[in-house]
Amino acid sequence: MTCDFFSLAAPGVRTLQPYQPGKPESELRREYGLTDIIKLASNENPLGPSPRALTAVREALNGLARYPDGNGFELKSALSAKLGLSMAMLTLGNGSNDVLELVARAFLTPEHEAVFSEHAFAVYPIVTQAIGATARIAKAHPDDHAMPHGHDPAAMLALINDRTRVVFIANPNNPTGTWLKTAELEAFLAAVPESVIVVVDEAYGEYVDPAADCPNALHWLERFPNLIVTRTFSKAYGLAGLRVGYAVSHPQAADLLNRVRQPFNVNSLALVAAAAALDDISHLEHSRALNDAGMQQFLDACRQWPLRWLPSVGNFLCVDVGRPGREVFLELLKRGVIVRPVDNYDLPDYLRISIGTAAENARCIDALSDILKG
Ligand SMILES: *Cc1c(COP(=O)(O)O)cnc(C)c1O
Repeated sequence: MTCDFFSLAAPGVRTLQPYQPGKPESELRREYGLTDIIKLASNENPLGPSPRALTAVREALNGLARYPDGNGFELKSALSAKLGLSMAMLTLGNGSNDVLELVARAFLTPEHEAVFSEHAFAVYPIVTQAIGATARIAKAHPDDHAMPHGHDPAAMLALINDRTRVVFIANPNNPTGTWLKTAELEAFLAAVPESVIVVVDEAYGEYVDPAADCPNALHWLERFPNLIVTRTFSKAYGLAGLRVGYAVSHPQAADLLNRVRQPFNVNSLALVAAAAALDDISHLEHSRALNDAGMQQFLDACRQWPLRWLPSVGNFLCVDVGRPGREVFLELLKRGVIVRPVDNYDLPDYLRISIGTAAENARCIDALSDILKG
């Protein structure tokens, strides 16, 4: 007996392109027999989590036989105090990717459309298509724009119609690092009909330089009830392995998101680690300072090579290597350096490099210099 799984699958799932994660160190070790490896491929915090988060995790280990608090009361109350917002506006997720999926499941159907930009974060097409909804992809800014390959709000607006239910905006965007400035995003939100949910994904919000004029969208929640802001503990808070993120929205939207949420989607270790991490402002400041210095280290190298880069306010940099990025990626692998090719984002000549420690950055820069000379 045979089973044609493909024809049984939901139509959206059949044509789904799976997410391509950064290559794990363990895989490079197995494949190339290398031992001295650095990974600058998934925008993780090179300092790791706050020591307070680690202590909280150790203390919570004794409770692993118990289900976590399905409502995440302690974490929500810590977030609520920190952000100055009511707990009823929060939805916790197993990473913010989980929250993005909750938005798709709560608001999209096969009759509806989601709008996002070219080169936008790869999870938006996945959650849209898995529901069977239609993705409408707006042209990004051209290469010679001040924000090259960045989201173009006018192009996104032009795709909004009666079938549009959700717009996804990553601010700043991954993998480009580009962002919509305060006035641009504000004008966009004001122009979008209230019947369209706008998700502003602020996964890198903690890294943003205040001088860059990249807005904190939480300030607009009162004015634009159709706004949903998502955040994560995976990047600046250094907790990618534990999987915890959240959405902030109008309480009625949060109520709907929480209805489709699995009852125990955030595990008990993640809940306590995230709450403890929130308290450690000095670790966050240290992480940000390390990132700023590392970004300068890479920008200096780019000027020297010279290679073009896309403006970035995140903890990563998209560099135009002037040849197929995947070839350079493979050459870097041989030298024990893992970065991210972004051909799957339609940026075939670019590499996305996560900012690491000064030593990791230097090693990546040396390896890349070596390859560019050859
Ligand atoms: C990394 C990232 C996320 C966060 O993913 P988690 O599921 O929270 O680990 C969300 N959005 C963007 C744009 C990202 O780059």
